[in-house]
Amino acid sequence: MDENTRHHSKLPMRARVATTVGGAAATVSRLAGKGDGSVIGGVISLRLAPDLLSLLAAGRQVVLVTGTNGKTTTTKLITAALAPLGGEIASNVYGANMEAGLTSALTHAPDARVAVLETDEKYIPAVVRATRPKVVVLLNLSRDQMDRAAEIWLLARRWREALGNAQDCRVVANADDPLVAWAASSARQVTWVAAGQRWREDSWCCPNCGAHLQREGDDWSCRECGGRRPPVSWMLYEDEVIDPTGRATKLDLALPGRANRSNAVIALAVAEAFGVHTGQALRELRKVTSVAGRYTQVSRRGVDVRLLLAKNPAGWLEALDVIAPPPAPVLLSVNAQGPDGRDTSWLWDVDFRRLRGRNVLVGGERRLDLAVRLEADEVALKLVNDIDEAVDAARGVASNLEVLANYTAFQQYRVALGRVQ
Ligand SMILES: [Zn+2]
Repeated sequence: MDENTRHHSKLPMRARVATTVGGAAATVSRLAGKGDGSVIGGVISLRLAPDLLSLLAAGRQVVLVTGTNGKTTTTKLITAALAPLGGEIASNVYGANMEAGLTSALTHAPDARVAVLETDEKYIPAVVRATRPKVVVLLNLSRDQMDRAAEIWLLARRWREALGNAQDCRVVANADDPLVAWAASSARQVTWVAAGQRWREDSWCCPNCGAHLQREGDDWSCRECGGRRPPVSWMLYEDEVIDPTGRATKLDLALPGRANRSNAVIALAVAEAFGVHTGQALRELRKVTSVAGRYTQVSRRGVDVRLLLAKNPAGWLEALDVIAPPPAPVLLSVNAQGPDGRDTSWLWDVDFRRLRGRNVLVGGERRLDLAVRLEADEVALKLVNDIDEAVDAARGVASNLEVLANYTAFQQYRVALGRVQ
């Protein structure tokens, strides 16, 4: 209560009323059992004071993190990497990433001088205008299930316009993703990071002129307009980060997989922009062991179950890189409710052949779609009805079970396993 009172005195009356009402709604939402309440709390605040986000961001150093995949993890890693600055850091750790979620994150950390905010791709132009960020992080841009390629290009164009108009803003961008590089290149200051691009199906054409891109390894260039991959100052090489001075340091993260190592390199580049030394930031990154349940291990009936969330084709490819080797069985699970996208045809964009010869279980509401897809890739499978059937199938074969699920399927398993963090 004291914290709120202190903070409220800094805001104009209209914003003070709005945050109070929003806070009450968040409490009601929590009591009603609808998650952490950050979305509904924020929505009501915004309706009462549309400029609330600007008011709440004023005087703070804001980092915005966006991209199709890896936003939540990278937001958490950046927050960790900035810990050596001392003091509280505002962040929307539960992934509520539209204007309302951002408002809520700032309201709940009134004294934080630094804010690290995961931001939905489509909200970036509005949120850049409202928060005047110190740093904007652009990770990658590819189709989500519901998007079409043309929408991705339009989004890149809007980022480009917004960043071109932003004053005193440093962009930390993935040079390996041509669409991201094109969007970032309008900014006044860019730190280029070689963060890799696992999914290339949406970037065969030059974002600048539409010609076919030449690609060789991670390098890309356009013969028509001369556009090319910018020279990078940070890169990942196996398990080492190479910093702008050329020094290599072992990452040694607790989080698994190449995608997370790339996200960590981005976090180090952001930390540098805040004057935090790489060694100090890295010590904090190594302490991060899970991200809102995305890489969490929980024991169920004697089996170690690890949950991985993958929401779109690029995310599934990354997750397949991360799963533990045999004999651990793999449970794949797909739903097609609103947040997942109703159409499961994206499954045909993912190459499942690497699962051949493994013990594969298939669950979720659309398990038959997934089974048909896997059979086309000649992957043998067994259908299961719920997480416990999968755990029982795993027991006796291995001590662990790898679970890969899309959004609502993941949430259902999380609830079944006791809403693990
Ligand atoms: Zn071109």
